[in-house]
Amino acid sequence: QIFMPLNFLGFVYREIRGSLANIENLFALLDTTPKVADAASATTLKVSLGKVEFDNVKFNYHVDRQILNGVSFTIEPGSKVAVVGESGAGKSTLVKLLFRFYDPTSGSIRIDGQSIAQVSQHSLRQHIGIVPQDTVLFNDTIFENIRYGRPDASKDEVTEAIKLAHLKTFIGNLPEGAETKVGERGLKLSGGEKQRVAIARAILKRPAIMVFDEATSSLDSQSEQAILRALREVAKGHTSLVIAHRLSTIVDADNILVMRDGRIIEQGDHDTLLAQQGMYAGLWQAQQRQANE
Ligand code: ATP
Repeated sequence: QIFMPLNFLGFVYREIRGSLANIENLFALLDTTPKVADAASATTLKVSLGKVEFDNVKFNYHVDRQILNGVSFTIEPGSKVAVVGESGAGKSTLVKLLFRFYDPTSGSIRIDGQSIAQVSQHSLRQHIGIVPQDTVLFNDTIFENIRYGRPDASKDEVTEAIKLAHLKTFIGNLPEGAETKVGERGLKLSGGEKQRVAIARAILKRPAIMVFDEATSSLDSQSEQAILRALREVAKGHTSLVIAHRLSTIVDADNILVMRDGRIIEQGDHDTLLAQQGMYAGLWQAQQRQANE
């Protein structure tokens, strides 16, 4: 008699925990509440390859100011596309539209040929993982904070994600290892460590499409290298979109989109863009000079 209710409670508990991980994504991306609703005929997004297409996407938050002026690009399955450009160019807006927190005013966004406006938001977000600029950690152990990525993950799977996210040494040095509490009265993590927790969560979730929103704050180079190695793990075999501030992070990207005023003004891989001697080459030289100072 008691088995069924307890089993049900367990189910509810897991559901709530799963939602919390999604709420984190919302918090990380949004300063406002979502404005879009599922279409009455919304289907479930089916992802086999993980191809992402932006087709002449135009968008504004307020009618008096156009933010995206017709953006088109394709992320081939399994490839890595990076977006760079000055502050305010519209990079994060692309991510908000991909998650369908807003709808484009015109143009369309498709995943494996399906318009994201025609699928349920729940199914859309199940297939996209995000490593946000600032990761929200819960008042719980570091182990459970990582397991938020997929609440039904086994202990071995969490341990493997810890290893792949290059958190093993960090956790090994904590007083109670992975059982150490994080939060107000517990452990405080640095920006780089928090991003690696987000990467470990993404590794557990194994979404077809990965979005990495690089933190603007500078990290020490050791921390940055650890993040880069961890990201390579999570990007393996996945389609990834990287919003980059440090160009050193994306020299290996298959395609780099350079944005200005809501338009893509240059695109290509690192070597092609350097040879063009345009805006990307200028940004690269400026960052190289800064690094050598
Ligand atoms: P950064 O590198 O500084 O993160 P970005 O290229 O990612 O910049 P976005 O965040 O996409 O730029 O912002 C593009 C423009 O849209 C900016 O001018 C910004 O002020 C504006 N904007 C962003 N979010 C909103 C919003 N919720 N409401 C109104 N305007 C917004």
